Formats: sequence, structure tokens, C-alpha cells
Amino acid sequence: QEVIRAEGLGKTYAEGKMHTPVFDGLELSVSRGETVAIIGASGAGKSTLLHLLGGLDVPTAGEVFVAGQKMSGLSDTARGALRNRELGFIYQFHHLLPEFTALENVMMPVLLGGGELDAARKRAMDLLESVGLGHRLAHKPGEMSGGERQRAAVARALVNQPGCVLGDEPTGNLDDRTAANVFGQMLELNRAHGTSLVLVTHDRSLARKLDRVLELREGRLHAMASSQV
Ligand code: ADP
Ligand code: ADP
Repeated sequence: QEVIRAEGLGKTYAEGKMHTPVFDGLELSVSRGETVAIIGASGAGKSTLLHLLGGLDVPTAGEVFVAGQKMSGLSDTARGALRNRELGFIYQFHHLLPEFTALENVMMPVLLGGGELDAARKRAMDLLESVGLGHRLAHKPGEMSGGERQRAAVARALVNQPGCVLGDEPTGNLDDRTAANVFGQMLELNRAHGTSLVLVTHDRSLARKLDRVLELREGRLHAMASSQV
């Protein structure tokens, strides 16, 4: 069962002087429970790809399917609901809301999805506990360390029990030890809940821990043998 599929995906930025496509005919299929690392040189198009997969930007060719639903066939409202239900996002910089506590930040996606307050609080507390932040529920982002903020962002991405989490350098601004710790938490949640992970990372020692490593090069994804990573 596929949680994400890209078919013949193409993207050309209209503003680009040369109108060179970032991709052309890119294919990707991610199964439920699978973990995939995407690596590639700077400018290869990794962020663009994640934006297209997450429905934050629209492709100029091809289609993205999320949980079997064609994104381009949906209204803005339906696409938003599908994203909120099926996908979680983690970025290099956590994007937690500074004026809210860790608990409130993690509850937010549940409430936005129409969930009830008590249920949202319980689920957010359980997840914060499981990423080792049970003692930081009432702290605001500015009162937490970099690693703690990133782990809170992991909890927030998982709180709606999405089929897949998309991460753009989720550990990119952390030191090696903290990065390994946050990455480990994500793998733990993958094992516990079967959440698929599609993570862009430049850190090959972390990429190697995932089921598959794909290199984005010349507009296509190339499978890498673990010995090459
Ligand atoms: P990566 O994440 O692998 O570094 P990006 O997806 O950020 O690569 O960028 C891929 C290419 O698309 C680059 O050549 C970049 O300059 C170009 N690009 C990215 N975003 C835009 C944009 N909004 N407008 C025009 N060109 C862009
Ligand atoms: P981590 O490995 O999670 O990034 P650090 O080694 O950076 O943690 O920090 C260790 C402890 O110091 C954390 O538990 C955190 O609560 C506290 N701490 C770090 N930075 C800050 C900060 N800016 N404000 C408040 N507490 C902080």
C-alpha cells in the first residue's frame, strides 16, 4: 500500500532565466511504514521535491498521489484536509509558535483537524513523553534547547498519526550527537506507529539508517546501494 506516489513529476520555475526544469519525469513510490532518505547536491531540487510531495507547491507536469488520492483533483479545502490528516512536516528550523507552550504547539494540528480538546491534550502529552519531553510541557520554544525544540517539532508532526512524515533537513541545525538523538526518536516512532518517513538529509551516516537511500541527480531519483552511501 502506497502512502505517497509521484508519477512523471516535472517542475520548472517560471522565474528561472533558463527555464531549466528542476525535474522531468521523476518517479517515486513510498509504501506504508517505509523509511526513505533523499540525498543530493545543493540545488539538486530536494526542497522543491518535498514541497511538491506535501502539496505546498504544484508540479508543472505529472501527478502526486497521497494515500491514493490525486492531489491535483482536489479542491483547496479537500487538499488541506488530506494534508492535515495524512502528512506531517518537519523542517530544519522547527517553526514552533513562540508564544505557545510545547504542549499547545503539539496539540494545534489536532485542534485544526477538528479534534476535541481533551483528546488533543492526551495525545500531545503522550507523544511529548515518548520523545523525552514529559518535563517540558509548559515550556515555550525560547525556553528549550535546540534538540528539545526539534523533538517537539517531531511530536507535532506525528500528533495526527499521519501516514507519512516529510522532513527537510530535520536535524540540519543540530550538532552530531543531538541530530542522532532526534533521528533516533523519529525511527522509534516509525517502529511504534508504522509512520513512513521521507527525509532529506546531507548526513550520510543518518541516511544509512533508513530502508532506502535515493540520490536526486539531474532531475531523477537514483537508488543507492548501502555500500555507496
Ligand atoms: P535543494 O533543496 O536540493 O538545494 P532546491 O529545491 O532548493 O534544491 O532548488 C532546486 C533548483 O530550483 C535550484 O536551481 C534553485 O535555484 C531553483 N529554485 C528553487 N526555488 C525556486 C523559486 N522559488 N524560484 C525559482 N527558482 C527556484
Ligand atoms: P539537547 O541535547 O536536547 O539539545 P542541550 O545539551 O542543548 O540539550 O541542553 C541541555 C539542557 O539545558 C536541556 O535540558 C535544556 O533544558 C537546557 N537548555 C539548553 N538551552 C536552553 C535555553 N536556551 N533555555 C533554557 N534551557 C536551555
